[in-house]
Amino acid sequence: MLIVQKYGGTSVGSLERIENVARRVAKARDEGNDLVVVVSAMSGETNKLIEYAHHFSKTPSKREMDILLSSGERVTASLLAIALQEMGYGAVALTGRQAGIRTDSTHTYARIESIDTTAIRRELDKGNIVIVAGFQGINEKGEVTTLGRGGSDLSAVALAGALHADACEIYSDVDGIYTTDPRIEPKARKLDSISYDEMLELSSLGAKVLQNRSVELAKKMGVKIIAKSSFDEGPGTIIAEEDEKMEEVLVSGIALDKNQARVSLRDVTDRPGIAAEIFKRLADEQINVDMIIQNASKEGTTNLGFTVPQSELEVAKRAIESFDHDIGSADYDENVCKVSVVGVGMKSHSGIAAKAFEALAENNINIEMISTSEIKISMIIDEKYGELAVRVLHEAYELDK
Ligand code: ADP
Ligand code: ASP
Ligand code: MG
Repeated sequence: MLIVQKYGGTSVGSLERIENVARRVAKARDEGNDLVVVVSAMSGETNKLIEYAHHFSKTPSKREMDILLSSGERVTASLLAIALQEMGYGAVALTGRQAGIRTDSTHTYARIESIDTTAIRRELDKGNIVIVAGFQGINEKGEVTTLGRGGSDLSAVALAGALHADACEIYSDVDGIYTTDPRIEPKARKLDSISYDEMLELSSLGAKVLQNRSVELAKKMGVKIIAKSSFDEGPGTIIAEEDEKMEEVLVSGIALDKNQARVSLRDVTDRPGIAAEIFKRLADEQINVDMIIQNASKEGTTNLGFTVPQSELEVAKRAIESFDHDIGSADYDENVCKVSVVGVGMKSHSGIAAKAFEALAENNINIEMISTSEIKISMIIDEKYGELAVRVLHEAYELDK
């Protein structure tokens, strides 16, 4: 079998843990598998590098950030290869470029465009374990790019797809995908399997256990992911196409995203084209607008509210302030969060949203905004109630059962 394994930051967070990973990789090798191993930077390392850059500049150049940030993954890849060699295994570490990972030029958030697997194949044919530095590639000009936070998951899925690997195993400090973050709700239950669509919603809505883009690509390429723990043995959770059994489950998980800010615009001139102008100006600044609500208009004006990632609030403020008329007043609130209920069963059952609203109401948690899709309900609430809301909803849908 050809197996792609990915070990995240916590799993390679110290020299002892890298050694632990080396032993696990060696074991899989002894069982007769060909292995491509993708590694993250040691935990905390990427944040530390970002802080270093911020010491010199609030807005460091993204091209330079990519060179800086890609170094973290190289450290672990080379150390793991050295550890394996010392244990008597043939192993070789490759950077993203050497592994043939080609991306577009969106520095710090690049998309993988193609993978030339020639070098990896050559090393596998020689009998080597191939260790690839995650989270990075090169663009057409040969410049280093990185794939967005959590991007080593994406490296692993893309390599598994390109190599037609038999398995794509993603190892972290949890032994699978849970009904919600087990750090917030200890009663969270591990799932045996979850559909791509549900996992995509959960990770897009704040569950960082898998990077959302990696799930999107896995679905597109049909790569079956198994999420497992690097600290113990266990079957993990399979992320794959939904089957009939999955659809019987109404709600499969709750996600919390604290990285949200709310913008409220009052007395906005109510005329055709005004929403287009406002959101065009935000889009021009690359701001990801999420939930939007517009009130019924009164006397020629209306109120408009929406959310943006907290990190983009300053830029959003500037874009809004660039309107000299058409917007009466604006206020901004960083102390909000988004809590979401996800489940494919919602497609075919009613009353699921009402249950969420009721559960929050019983706990005196005020809902500021709501948005729904076929398989999720998201609610914006005061940030200080975020974790409570997760537990309350978890209980309401009896997810611990
Ligand atoms: P890595 O560093 O290995 O990439 P992450 O820290 O990115 O790992 O992801 C693992 C963490 O995701 C867990 O420690 C857990 O707290 C968090 N998490 C959030 N939501 C979930 C969920 N639904 N199931 C499992 N883990 C979750
Ligand atoms: N090291 C990168 C990050 O912290 C990528 C990853 O860990 O997947 O975001
Ligand atoms: Mg991660």
